[in-house]
Amino acid sequence: MALLIKGGEIVTAESRTRADIFVENETITAIGAGLDAPAGTEVVDARGKLVFPGFIDPHVHIHLPFMATFAKDTHATASKAALIGGTTTFIEMCCPSRNEDALEGYHTWKQKAEGNSACDYAFHMAVTRYDARTEAQLREIVRDGTASFKVFLAYKNFFGVTDEELFHTLKLAAELGVITTAHCENAELVAQLQQQLLAEGKTGPEWHEPSRPEAVEAEGTARFATFLEQTGAAGYVVHLSCAPALRAAVEAKLRGVQLYVESVLPHFLLDKSFAGRAGVEGMKHVMSPPLRDKRNLPLLWSALQSGLIDTVGTDHCPFDTEQKLLGKNDFTQIPNGIPGLEDRVNLMYTYGVKRGSLDIHRFVDALSTRPGRLFGLFPRKGTIAVGADADLVVYDTDYRGTISAATQHTNNDYNGFEGFAIEGRPSVVTIRGKVQVRDGVFVGNLARGCMIRREPQYYPKQAAQEGSIHAR
Ligand SMILES: [Zn+2]
Repeated sequence: MALLIKGGEIVTAESRTRADIFVENETITAIGAGLDAPAGTEVVDARGKLVFPGFIDPHVHIHLPFMATFAKDTHATASKAALIGGTTTFIEMCCPSRNEDALEGYHTWKQKAEGNSACDYAFHMAVTRYDARTEAQLREIVRDGTASFKVFLAYKNFFGVTDEELFHTLKLAAELGVITTAHCENAELVAQLQQQLLAEGKTGPEWHEPSRPEAVEAEGTARFATFLEQTGAAGYVVHLSCAPALRAAVEAKLRGVQLYVESVLPHFLLDKSFAGRAGVEGMKHVMSPPLRDKRNLPLLWSALQSGLIDTVGTDHCPFDTEQKLLGKNDFTQIPNGIPGLEDRVNLMYTYGVKRGSLDIHRFVDALSTRPGRLFGLFPRKGTIAVGADADLVVYDTDYRGTISAATQHTNNDYNGFEGFAIEGRPSVVTIRGKVQVRDGVFVGNLARGCMIRREPQYYPKQAAQEGSIHAR
């Protein structure tokens, strides 16, 4: 069926115009003033509202075995929550552990998602071990349309890779034209500092941050950049949390390293005092990298506005209260992570755009267009243009509400942003032309989503060839 979005103000990464959007067969086929609706067209009245391209969350965990338990969402609960919050595509981390077979893991993750997602999705393939068998499997996985890797420099002996494995992964990524996303912390330093703190009887969640200080993240970021530089691969730092790590990333960008930076929702709005709260309240705010000293927050906002931070993801990772309590006597046993998929758009709009720290076009860019471009989803996703998928968010800027676990759709018994006011929310959300959400209510098809296959797009600079031309 055809769909007409009428009278809204279309806001993309570059422009702001009042126009109608006509959709046929899942695709935007016309944009202009006063478009006609042929008989049978579904019409959405967007007068007085903004129309954004569907938002893309470049970093989520749905199926996640971690620290002896599983994150709480299923693809059904997560994709519904995503759509209600305006996110129409997410990229899930496919994370088999070091002891598992990469290809088997990939099939497991794909099977969990297939037919069970209300929004579109893609995967980053975690490389948690590197040997000849894994290499052959990674080539197959990239051919299947998963054109990005994930490596962990943290989580020694579980997800983490050695420097040797990192080198070989990046060599392969450069050859295949695949971008590698990285969790940048020094695993050995974290392990040693954890043992030291526990030996001193420091067991509460407030000791999580001191066990992975800012310098440990800066070291991981700088090391990742150095490995990119030496292999010619393209890289993307996930969930960058603090000024020293940002400086390391910017240094690398200035050297011409193909390095991009993501920060995630919690680090823009919360600081380490949340993890220092007594008992389980503190445990709810344990994630890695940890929430930081609040002096970092204004710096992250200005880096986001200027584009030094490229994208905003969530690292959505819902563990409930009972799971968090696994670490009540030892902070190293608290499952790491916090939900955010449902709230990213509304919170970044409210505390960024409305409060004046983030330009509205940069907001669309960081939460939709740039993740789309960096991960090969653009121009199908990440913009409003003729020929693009009709993933649209009609946004009600007059809405006023409060974030609460009692009203959320994410499958969890708490929300890390409990009590935060929001000033705006999606009024209508479509996936490829089908209305899936109206005013906070899911009204669509739970099996609407499909996997978006992506092509490799990063190749190392041809330094050697240019050199030989000059030599002649
Ligand atoms: Zn993550």
